Amino acid sequence: MTAAFLDPRVMSRELGLDFGDRVAGLVALETRMEAFCAGVPALGVDEHDEHAATRTYVAALAKAELLRLLVPKAYGGERLDVESTPICVARQWLARQSGALDTAFVMQGLGSYPITLAGSEALKRELLPAIAAGDRIAAFALTEPEAGSDVSGMRTTLTPTDGGGARLSGEKCFISNAGVADSYVIFAREGGLAPDAPPQFSAAWVPADSPGLSFEQTHVIAPHPIGRVIMDDVAVPAAHRLGPVGGGLKLALATLEVFRVTVGAAALGFADRALSEALAHLSTRVQFGKPLAKQQGLRFALADVATEHLAAQLLVYRAALARDSGDTGADKVAMAKLYATESAQRVVDRAVQSLGGLGVTVGEAVERLYREVRALRIYEGTSEIQKLVIARSLFGR
Ligand SMILES: Cc1cc2nc3c(=O)[nH]c(=O)nc-3n(C[C@H](O)[C@H](O)[C@H](O)COP(=O)(O)OP(=O)(O)OC[C@H]3O[C@@H](n4cnc5c(N)ncnc54)[C@H](O)[C@@H]3O)c2cc1C
Repeated sequence: MTAAFLDPRVMSRELGLDFGDRVAGLVALETRMEAFCAGVPALGVDEHDEHAATRTYVAALAKAELLRLLVPKAYGGERLDVESTPICVARQWLARQSGALDTAFVMQGLGSYPITLAGSEALKRELLPAIAAGDRIAAFALTEPEAGSDVSGMRTTLTPTDGGGARLSGEKCFISNAGVADSYVIFAREGGLAPDAPPQFSAAWVPADSPGLSFEQTHVIAPHPIGRVIMDDVAVPAAHRLGPVGGGLKLALATLEVFRVTVGAAALGFADRALSEALAHLSTRVQFGKPLAKQQGLRFALADVATEHLAAQLLVYRAALARDSGDTGADKVAMAKLYATESAQRVVDRAVQSLGGLGVTVGEAVERLYREVRALRIYEGTSEIQKLVIARSLFGR
């Protein structure tokens, strides 16, 4: 018998959290996730071809209508508003299968939510249904070479021109879906302000075929479509601005507020898979005349990470439910993202250790998980930045 909190279905894990009237919808979603995930191996995706893999995954996710979780009902979505909890459930399932699949899913949300929040009606009608249908691939471009954790260091500049438009110049780095996306939400510093004026940050939508926009691929330790976005005097019509002048950072933060907790859920998915691989291996591998699962040292090690994994699930779903109920306290989300990503790293490391040499053999699931889980402690706010947020709530500033 396996512990309830390892049941494949999150809703059957007896977490003791009150999912309220969301339960029926989430149970139905898990039935769809189970069916979808069972079909993923048959897609035969080569994840080393990162752009082709992204296109295949986005098309498959769209066909299963899962991308509809990422836009509001009025624009082709499934629910009235975009909610963190169902996205968490979906990411937990997808990450058990593949990090690249999880990225293909969530980027459609991260790259479209600023449009949902601040796009013109015409832009929303043009883009959001297409993103939900997988006809357009989305990206969210905030980070720059000089502006990582401190986004106010941004140098990309959006300079107003006569006639109400603007020109965009600068460079973004570590942008998921760079080069494969059709649709870019780009954050930039306002140009043309008085030299002593405080900086203002804004956001704009830029289609991939805009003259002056180019891309350079970057390769990270696990398959992930990512790269630089270079903007050389790109024309931005007034209708493509997202929100007011000076509203860019607020918009970026409002977007991360919905999606940051879901990074924790992806970490849960990696940890789920790692734990099940470790348990299966220890139960069957015989050394010193008996299965390794009989060795108390190994049993205790698994007991430690299983406990952490349960704690991580409680924090993630508690934060997601709070957010979906209108609680905007950033500390719950920060604690969830921090703990779930850090503990998933420990769970995966323990799984690698449990498999011995097999654990570091290319092609083994836990070897891949070891590479896949690492970036989660870095993107959408590093662990250190989550600690800054938590400390701010402790000290009141
Ligand atoms: C796989 C992946 C996908 C990504 N996708 C996107 C994307 O789609 N869009 C996007 O805009 N960005 C994306 N990023 C960028 C990511 O958000 C940044 O890498 C992250 O915010 C950290 O910025 P940095 O890499 O410049 O590190 P830095 O900010 O330079 O930080 C370096 C180290 O210093 C620590 N540090 C920084 N400031 C402090 C402080 N005040 N106190 C204590 N420690 C501190 C950090 O925690 C980190 O450990 C992605 C990154 C990765 C790895």
